Amino acid sequence: MRHDFDVIIVGAGIAGSALACALSSGFYAATKGLRIALVEAHKISDTLPARGGEVEGFDTRVSALTRASIDYFEKLGVWSAMTALRSCPFVGMQVWDARGTGEINFNAQAMGVDYLGHIVENRVITAALMSAVREQRVEILDGCAVASIVLPTAGQSEQAAGGAQVTLDNGSTLTAGLVVAADGAHSPCRQMLGMPVRAWDYQQDAIVCTVAVSQPHQHTAWQTFTGTGPLAYLPLMTGPQSSGDAGSHYCSIVWSQTRERAQRLLALPEAEFCQQLASALEFRLGDIVAVSQRRSFPLQQQHAIDYALEGFALIADAAHTIHPLAGQGINLGIGDVQELAQTIATAHAAGAPLGELARLQRYQRARKTDNLAMMAVVEGFKRLYEPVPLPVMWLRNWGMQQVNSQPWLKNKILKYAMGLG
Ligand SMILES: Cc1cc2nc3c(=O)[nH]c(=O)nc-3n(C[C@H](O)[C@H](O)[C@H](O)COP(=O)(O)OP(=O)(O)OC[C@H]3O[C@@H](n4cnc5c(N)ncnc54)[C@H](O)[C@@H]3O)c2cc1C
Repeated sequence: MRHDFDVIIVGAGIAGSALACALSSGFYAATKGLRIALVEAHKISDTLPARGGEVEGFDTRVSALTRASIDYFEKLGVWSAMTALRSCPFVGMQVWDARGTGEINFNAQAMGVDYLGHIVENRVITAALMSAVREQRVEILDGCAVASIVLPTAGQSEQAAGGAQVTLDNGSTLTAGLVVAADGAHSPCRQMLGMPVRAWDYQQDAIVCTVAVSQPHQHTAWQTFTGTGPLAYLPLMTGPQSSGDAGSHYCSIVWSQTRERAQRLLALPEAEFCQQLASALEFRLGDIVAVSQRRSFPLQQQHAIDYALEGFALIADAAHTIHPLAGQGINLGIGDVQELAQTIATAHAAGAPLGELARLQRYQRARKTDNLAMMAVVEGFKRLYEPVPLPVMWLRNWGMQQVNSQPWLKNKILKYAMGLG
């Protein structure tokens, strides 16, 4: 039976638009002719993000992209479009324990690389991806949400079972060999299909905003572990890299705090909030001279027991979410995109059904290993920096100093964090 599409992707966030781009870009020769639909509940803007010079000109949601994610975007031909809009390479990382003397500094030059990663606004990433997707033959259905999904019976091939059937909230029905849910942490698709997750609430909210600081950020990502949660200042630039160092006073803030304290901080008058935020960083970047609107996100770790059913797969936040302290969430999601795109390409080249469960389970096995390993590392960090008895705190600070004095160990840690180890 011929379906309306070979693949329906649900959700045009970073993960969904990256998968649509990967499958349509020609990077995988086998997927070039696939009929792809991208369904997004919201209207997708077709204007590029404005170049702002004010705190409100930036997206408060940013991602620290690892070298591995950047390499993939380069292969898909979209990285130059992101840097042409704006992205900020960071060459240093300073991480310290606010309740002791422990500090670790990472430096690109010492590690023999030109940068450690890039901070890119989420809307810049999606704008560049969607601009590439629009140039291909991808059917973009925006402003309509998936309302229900019926999957082929397990064990039957998609041809025999008629593939997966997706009904949108505008009443239309589409069929496909494979439906991929990239519909975020609350994944309505995952829930509609009753796919269970293991989840626990961190009892923390992340406050995000953009600030202008009085001293230059030095293209460094700053992170301190306070008694009530980690605080990151991530460097931003106002224009493309070629525009030089202009705007090196802007930073994106991710301040994870216990829920109650986060609500109190959000309610503070602006001047007092700025004072507390600068003080939490020990004034290492001076004072805060301007702050954007503040937003907050509840933090939860979540992991789907299965990433795949017959004719259906989960990617990125729909499959897993982690604490933002290591800036790895969407980097893991981009890893999912790479693995699933390769799985689809291999199946198509072999003339096999794209939704075959055995193949999707291979994708699941490959990604679960990486995702679980990173989840365990991030969880370990989170717990290590929770309030602990004094001797444990001394040990922790001693440990940080030891790591800082061992270049080979720092190199190993950094390679893993950059997605290269
Ligand atoms: C404070 C914070 C800081 C972070 N910092 C980093 C970082 O530095 N580095 C990093 O790697 N990660 C970071 N992350 C994680 C990262 O932001 C997420 O992993 C990423 O945004 C998830 O992208 P996604 O495409 O999977 O989902 P989403 O961005 O949630 O996109 C899902 C899309 O699906 C659409 N949708 C939902 N339901 C339907 C439906 N029924 N029908 C159609 N469409 C639907 C939604 O409208 C949305 O557009 C951070 C997270 C937080 C909370």
